[in-house]
Amino acid sequence: ILNLKHLKKSYGNHQVLRDISFNVNKGEIVTIIGPSGGGKSTTLRCINLLEEPTGGEIDFHGKNILAPNFNRNIYRAKVGMVFQQFNLFENKNVLENCMVGQELVLKRSKKGAHDIALTNLKTVGMGAYINAKPQQLSGGQQQRVAIARTVSMNPEVLLFDEPTSALDPEMVGDVLDAMKKLAKAGFTMIMVTHEMAFARDISDEILFINDGVIAEEGAPEQIFNHPKEKVTQKFLHNFK
Ligand code: ATP
Ligand code: MG
Repeated sequence: ILNLKHLKKSYGNHQVLRDISFNVNKGEIVTIIGPSGGGKSTTLRCINLLEEPTGGEIDFHGKNILAPNFNRNIYRAKVGMVFQQFNLFENKNVLENCMVGQELVLKRSKKGAHDIALTNLKTVGMGAYINAKPQQLSGGQQQRVAIARTVSMNPEVLLFDEPTSALDPEMVGDVLDAMKKLAKAGFTMIMVTHEMAFARDISDEILFINDGVIAEEGAPEQIFNHPKEKVTQKFLHNFK
């Protein structure tokens, strides 16, 4: 579904992504780990075109999304992202937060948007809070609403950038449970996380990104139990 080919990204003279290539198949869960500043977020931000790559190619269903004639608006709607900060609309309730994009972007009816929002809010365990305003909710609850909002746009690929990093520890589990449900439901997911036990549990493939390159990649069992590269060993050692 996605093929990154020699992706590069520079800010001025600073080459942040030097050569990133990987494939994501439909239904696969790919997790990116690695040290701070290595280029994890930049990789996700290039995939959903929040950043313009400076080299290489990203193919979506075999078509290069960076080609001048590629329809980026349609593509952006198919790639949903969940951020560390949830960015909910404070003046809208939970249900409205999950409906507004569907109505404005996908032109769904109120009824259609409502039903889809409700289904997804129930999936993430937030069905009992549809009338609450974001500030009445805990961080973990807000993040689950943000996940339901993203899923309500029917994305083909879900991107998560450290979705639990801003949360108090006791809230992390509920958010990870929600993500696990989505994974089980067959969503294609690319996530950045420091939750190593979770990553090991649900991922098909782990990418260790360090200094703008994939220093090591493989199945969770291999990366976590038998990392080959010194940098990977050192990084994982700090999480034990
Ligand atoms: P973290 O674990 O801290 O989130 P990361 O792996 O996600 O790190 P990135 O956010 O992708 O790292 O950043 C990689 C490098 O790119 C860093 O050195 C960062 O300072 C630089 N960078 C990121 N965004 C910009 C920007 N808009 N302008 C200039 N440099 C940037
Ligand atoms: Mg980051």
